[in-house]
Amino acid sequence: MSVWAILVAAGRGERLGTDQPKAFAKLGEMPLLAEPLRRLDESEWIDAVVLVAPPGWEEPAILLAEELGCSKVRACVPGGETRAASVRAGVDEVPDDAAVVLVHDAARPLLPDEVVERVIAPLAEGWDGAVPGLRVSDTVKRVGADGGVVETVARDGLWTVQTPQAFVADALRRAVGGGGEATDCAGLVEAQGGRVKVVPGDPRLLKVTTADDLARIASWL
Ligand code: C5P
Repeated sequence: MSVWAILVAAGRGERLGTDQPKAFAKLGEMPLLAEPLRRLDESEWIDAVVLVAPPGWEEPAILLAEELGCSKVRACVPGGETRAASVRAGVDEVPDDAAVVLVHDAARPLLPDEVVERVIAPLAEGWDGAVPGLRVSDTVKRVGADGGVVETVARDGLWTVQTPQAFVADALRRAVGGGGEATDCAGLVEAQGGRVKVVPGDPRLLKVTTADDLARIASWL
């Protein structure tokens, strides 16, 4: 059973306030992209990696993979306008005989290998996909544009969801082929009627959005 990973790194990262795309912002001495790329490449669960780079940054991405000594990177393609378009570009590079595709955000650099194992396991039990999640512990409110509370949402059964997200390859192919948009891949698979399981995530999978997130992750390294 071959497992392909798509590392989506084509976001602009405007909220980070750097000149380069988010994947090339510095995390310590190296570009942010280096950490998740190395971890995927070293994972015993992953056979091959497709890198989705910011348009025009494919060459620096390939050079970085070479510098890190990555041996599993099979393709590096430019991303699209949206995350779903970037995933679609990555899926196009996955061969038909791949059994499982795992999609990971480069913006979540601290990828624990246990989570990779945890999201792949349910696919052998008949699930179309599995995603890491954290149970919501704060009270959740819907807030209007004027800052006023519209409603307090019942917290039972609410989870926030992270990446890596693993899918039966055909289910993900069908989902991205539908041309829809969603903030995660599971949303696309769910929209096609796919069954997605949530497994325990990890707080270290924090997504870099602001410079503070980058500083926090650097301190965890
Ligand atoms: O924008 P957001 O933080 O949700 O992005 C999550 C991940 O998706 C990031 O790793 C980012 O690089 C990637 N992305 C992408 N192409 C886009 C937008 C986001 O590859 N057009």
